[in-house]
Amino acid sequence: MGKNLTTRSEDYSKWYNELVVKADLAENSGVRGCMVIKPYGYAIWEKMQAALDRMFKETGHQNAYFPIFIPKSYLSKEASHVEGFAKECAVVTHYRLKNAEDGSGLVVDETAKLEEELIVRPTSETIIWDTYRRWIQSYRDLPLKINQWANVVRWEMRTRLFLRTSEFLWQEGHTAHATREEAVEEAETILGVYTQFAEGYMAVPVIRGTKTASERFAGAEETYCIEALMQDGKALQAGTSHFLGQNFARAFDVQFDTREGDRDFVWATSWGVSTRLMGALVMTHSDDNGLILPPRLAPIQVVIIPIYRGEEQLVAISDAARPVMEALRQKGISVHYDDRDTHKPGFKFNEYELKGVPVRLALGPRDLENGTFEVARRDTLEKEVVKADAVVDHIAALLDAIQENIFQRALAFREARITPVDSYEQFREVLEAKGGFLSAHWDGTEETEQRIKEETKATIRCIPLDPKPDPGRCMVTGKPSPYRVLFAKAY
Ligand code: AMP
Repeated sequence: MGKNLTTRSEDYSKWYNELVVKADLAENSGVRGCMVIKPYGYAIWEKMQAALDRMFKETGHQNAYFPIFIPKSYLSKEASHVEGFAKECAVVTHYRLKNAEDGSGLVVDETAKLEEELIVRPTSETIIWDTYRRWIQSYRDLPLKINQWANVVRWEMRTRLFLRTSEFLWQEGHTAHATREEAVEEAETILGVYTQFAEGYMAVPVIRGTKTASERFAGAEETYCIEALMQDGKALQAGTSHFLGQNFARAFDVQFDTREGDRDFVWATSWGVSTRLMGALVMTHSDDNGLILPPRLAPIQVVIIPIYRGEEQLVAISDAARPVMEALRQKGISVHYDDRDTHKPGFKFNEYELKGVPVRLALGPRDLENGTFEVARRDTLEKEVVKADAVVDHIAALLDAIQENIFQRALAFREARITPVDSYEQFREVLEAKGGFLSAHWDGTEETEQRIKEETKATIRCIPLDPKPDPGRCMVTGKPSPYRVLFAKAY
């Protein structure tokens, strides 16, 4: 049965937009570039949050909350930060509306002009470092490791549900340290947490690396990132962790008494992942029938659909399903029993396929007679018949198998799309024919990076972490290059 979804091969980007809406994850709103996240989409985000939040706490971080508004003057204090963010800031200038004298509706009350304009946070380094000045006096106050769950606003020109929106939800970590080494270690620890989360929960394989100077976060000395590959061969930056040096401490005058009795500026990191991860999840695993969700993030892991005619059959089937549901819940598996009489089983099968529920159980009169369930897995669409007394253990093992299978599938897909190339001509050919990551030599200059971007739309996604020495020559200029970097077209 068709879900009336555009297929991936017809139009990948249309497929994605339709799927996000039809699977009830999110929809566009009346505000340009801002989305409504619907309950089913939000439930997945909540599961992501819960797993990440636990991992942050296990690595010694605490949550706090800072204001959504930042005085404009704060933003200008760190020169490269302002340059990076000023061009996409929403600004609050007034605090009151009034009725227009000609009765045409509400207008801004010009007498209610803010003395200092406020910007809606695009990221919170400035307000947080302004606060840290009051919190940090001595090495005894360090390290300070804070995370905030919040919304931010960046006035994006080209938006797409989840992947790039003008308002998005995220977490932002902001840490303060006594030494450079400790701050670098923190930035790398978080990159490890993000990797573990992406691979272990989302089942999305990622490549870890650092950004080139031109792709670095505004105000950072080093930006670490995880890069994922989508099914259309385009890369997606899935998370970033920044080593900020002493830049924000200098800008906001955050100094501390060192253990040795000197004064020094504090070392900083910041790091974030956003609702973009939802887009990565959809684009990595889903197929032409709909979403495929990893069991560890699926709001409903198992759906049970009774196939019945009349009340009497439903009662008998429900009686057989109940102990299975209870046993599954005992194991911490989330189960939904869909006995709505307003929809036919076929409709329900389609719906849960579209919504990516990992396992579907069907139970009809014949199963009841035989003491069996029909078990269908969403990742491969395979079905099998399982004895009722074995079904609970079977499902527990199946959920793990699905989690592992979709990870391995995505990994194999990505591995087949990392192509080493040695000439610019070959680079262009592979980029057009196959996409994916291209591993190539680059002379390390911004000019060459820029030229490649203009001519091919591919950017350097990252310099892989701990690149193994592999001296060669830049594919464009022929100048020496110490190792290969990864290029791709990206979202
Ligand atoms: P940044 O602060 O620029 O390093 O970004 C932090 C995280 O937010 C990264 O994982 C980005 O991929 C993500 N991100 C940046 N801009 C957007 C946007 N417009 N919509 C959704 N996620 C975003």
